[in-house]
Amino acid sequence: VSELREVTNHIAHDLRSPITRIRGMAETTMTGEQTIEEYREMAEIVVEESDRLVGMINVMLDIAMTEAGGRVAAREEIDIVRVAESACEIFQTIAEDRGLTLMVDCIQGPLVIRGNLSQLQRMISNLLDNACKFTPPGGSIRLTLQDTKTHAVITVADTGIGISDQDLPRIFEQFYRADRSRSTPGNGLGLSHVKAIVRAHGGEIQVESTPGKGSSFTVYLPIERDQQGVVQS
Ligand code: ADP
Repeated sequence: VSELREVTNHIAHDLRSPITRIRGMAETTMTGEQTIEEYREMAEIVVEESDRLVGMINVMLDIAMTEAGGRVAAREEIDIVRVAESACEIFQTIAEDRGLTLMVDCIQGPLVIRGNLSQLQRMISNLLDNACKFTPPGGSIRLTLQDTKTHAVITVADTGIGISDQDLPRIFEQFYRADRSRSTPGNGLGLSHVKAIVRAHGGEIQVESTPGKGSSFTVYLPIERDQQGVVQS
């Protein structure tokens, strides 16, 4: 019950802050004598906060639909190596800007799995995004992709702040954020989205972490092969 209460508290807090800001702006507009420029700035904040809210609601809906298997129909054959390498290309600049080294160590593609392209892109991006956010400048991130014949195994490892034993079992819950990461931008939905996507693809996700040393997230995605080793579609 206390865990449920805590989750509800996080949800209430995360949804309330943007609404409070929007309300504040509307109130100032009603009562104050502002310049056009100030009104414009306030309108920009209202748009930003509304987008944040809509974004959060969309992610929550997507998680619910993914958990319910609602996206299964949109599956196709996907080269997961290409997806991982493309995501790393995008994050290369983000990592550099933060003073981080991003290393990519993928097997030679293609490695075809059946899945939903945008969901798989989202899954890898969320893991890379977290690695960039929670690794101080000077650190490094490594994405590896291996083929165990039964699974595509993707690992995103960083040399960042790490996760305490107390937080580790809870990081996949919606809105859960460790106390020391609450000052970092985010909404605590990223990892629950990742987990829902992995599960919808029949896979598993594991995490290992040492506070102060870094974290490593490993995703196992099943490959359906026949006896000749050909991927089944
Ligand atoms: P967000 O990143 O928006 O806070 P997530 O659901 O992606 O939400 O992650 C939940 C929490 O798990 C984060 O707030 C952080 O405390 C912890 N976490 C996730 N990834 C990492 C990482 N690579 N290193 C350290 N902590 C992490």
